[in-house]
Amino acid sequence: MTHILDSYALDRWFTPEAGLVDIPSAIDGRVVARASTRGLDFAAMVRHAREVGGPALRRLTFHQRADMLKALGAHLTAHKDALYALAADTGATKRDNFFDIDGGIGTLYAYASRGRRELPGERFVVEGTPEALSKNGTFIGLHVLTPLHGVAVHVNAFNFPCWGMLEKLAPAILAGMPVITKPATATAYVAEAVVKLIVEANILPAGALQFVAGSAGDLLDHLTGQDVLSFTGSAATSQALRDHPAVSRNAVRFIAERDSLNAAVLGPDAVEGTPEFDLFIAEVVREMTVKAGQKCTAIRRIIVPKAQEGAVIAALSGRLAAIAVGDPRRDDVRMGPLASRSQRIATQEAVREIAVEAEIVFGDPDKVEPVGADAATGAFIAPVLLRCPEPLTAKAPHAVEAFGPVATVMGYEAISDALALVAKGEGSLVASVYTYDPAVAEELVFGIAAHHGRVVLIDRDCAKESTGHGSPLPGLVHGGPGRAGGGEEMGGLRGVFHYMQRTAIEGSPARLSALTRTWLSGAPAPVTPEHPFKRKFDALSVGDTVETASRTITLEDIEHFAHFTGDTFYAHMDEEAAKANPFFPGRVAHGYLILSFAAGLFVDPAPGPLLANYGLDSLRFLKPVSPGDAIRVRLTVKNKQPARKPEYGEVRWDAEVFNQDGDTVARYELLTMSSRI
Ligand code: NAP
Repeated sequence: MTHILDSYALDRWFTPEAGLVDIPSAIDGRVVARASTRGLDFAAMVRHAREVGGPALRRLTFHQRADMLKALGAHLTAHKDALYALAADTGATKRDNFFDIDGGIGTLYAYASRGRRELPGERFVVEGTPEALSKNGTFIGLHVLTPLHGVAVHVNAFNFPCWGMLEKLAPAILAGMPVITKPATATAYVAEAVVKLIVEANILPAGALQFVAGSAGDLLDHLTGQDVLSFTGSAATSQALRDHPAVSRNAVRFIAERDSLNAAVLGPDAVEGTPEFDLFIAEVVREMTVKAGQKCTAIRRIIVPKAQEGAVIAALSGRLAAIAVGDPRRDDVRMGPLASRSQRIATQEAVREIAVEAEIVFGDPDKVEPVGADAATGAFIAPVLLRCPEPLTAKAPHAVEAFGPVATVMGYEAISDALALVAKGEGSLVASVYTYDPAVAEELVFGIAAHHGRVVLIDRDCAKESTGHGSPLPGLVHGGPGRAGGGEEMGGLRGVFHYMQRTAIEGSPARLSALTRTWLSGAPAPVTPEHPFKRKFDALSVGDTVETASRTITLEDIEHFAHFTGDTFYAHMDEEAAKANPFFPGRVAHGYLILSFAAGLFVDPAPGPLLANYGLDSLRFLKPVSPGDAIRVRLTVKNKQPARKPEYGEVRWDAEVFNQDGDTVARYELLTMSSRI
């Protein structure tokens, strides 16, 4: 019995009975699975996400959602061998699985850790610093981010059934938005297995994740302005989705990751025999053959100095000749088949289009002898290298994406020509640059950055640890302008904020402090009867304040501090030299002396719930302190966050140091860890 793919809707598995389409194996064409979404109620799915999944997720804090992602990562890791086995029929080798399956799970972990470290234990984010809007400080503004109240619809391409799904899921769930995910039908059996594991783990709340195996039906008709549509795939489908009446009418937030003709540029200094030349050859071959070149980030255009063209073609041809194409399950195979025979036909057709303006210098798109497999039934294709003799005037090599192990060598004379060639891709996800010359690196990077979401510099210093040209990373932006879709994914928290609304909130400091649970200048700062260092984390309130006595700073203090620390900088030691300095009226106290004396003024010395001081943020020395000046400190609880361990909490204090005239001489945020038990 052929496996019929289930969809997951309204927290139940749905098995279709009609309209089934066959999904063939990439290895031998046998039917691996069948899929259909006939009978699936898309309107009800969208409603369920909005009414059940969204509210359940929004009740949780970022930290709780981050913990769910971590638990999902652990569950999938424990079962990844089963996913590897299934993925073989998509054409994936062991090396390919590392990118798709391990890479996908890695994204869950990466967002779990960012959520814990970089987001508050809250349900909203305060972005940036407050804006002063009034003379007397009674009216201010700030920006908050809150999760949208709709559903995140994710539509993915066939080449990364696991990574493509999880790299979108993790930021959306962390943001607090429920997801309906739709993989490409051609490889949906891998995505189905991943979702079955996620459902079985029972970690996400009801309605947080639904899954569509097969066509999207009328799903998009139900989208509104609170929804997000995030798409990965071809330019043509992206255009159709963007122009969908509901999407354009309701200004549905639309993120597109499309194809792109990514370039690798060899610097003029990186001649044969240099480490950068060898790194370039290795990277191009890797990018052409990982996932059989079916990567949106793969190198399609190989841009090299004209003088190096022959050497590059010879070196690439030598390496490509050694790539064994065949059954991806075999250890001796480096490159598996394309995802389907129809993909092979599309790739062969694309090679023919490019070949009108280029010559094939290695490989034959119509001839392959796969190891352990049959060329007639499987979707195999050999690597194909082309050379474009007139790249500055040619069109197809810059415009036609052959979604397979295909790339074109293009020669340039001057660096300005290399920049022009790169720009002819009309916007790409990534480019890589290979040079050890700082001037070349600068000219190339700043010459092409505007056309890319990511630029990788590979040279002898970083190559060993480099993650390479083709790997999108959770902490860095993935996406590119123009042809690449104009979208952005991941990039750390940027990817999370795509699922949230930014709202400017205006009001009094007291009201905004209370709303954001963050003390803001101008809000009440009551001096507590008992020193706040004596209070356990949970007994501290935002705004609790210590006002210290004042301390006069003498010349002896400055001298003592200078000799004790070794900081005898002239501004503290030499009246005349200090006076000649435009910033100082004469000898002044060290900034660190002010900080040290401030601590001496505000600490409560006895053992208590305050455990450690672990840093300062945003320190500014605003006015010099001269001998005879008296300083005092106001220390206020600015914000409290639960720590990773439940027995501690992190407290951020606003520390402001004043002189005898009430002028601020220093301001900073002090970070401490307090006990909760
Ligand atoms: P595709 O044909 O555009 O399909 C992409 C997705 O769109 C599939 O899930 C497909 O579903 C769905 N789809 C098609 N028509 C739709 C419609 N009318 N309404 C809703 N969904 C619809 O692309 P592909 O062939 O799978 O992927 C290959 C392309 O993706 C390449 O061009 C590659 O460069 C690009 N890609 C880009 C990135 C990136 O991050 N920028 C990553 C990977 C791939 P069905 O499968 O059910 O038709």
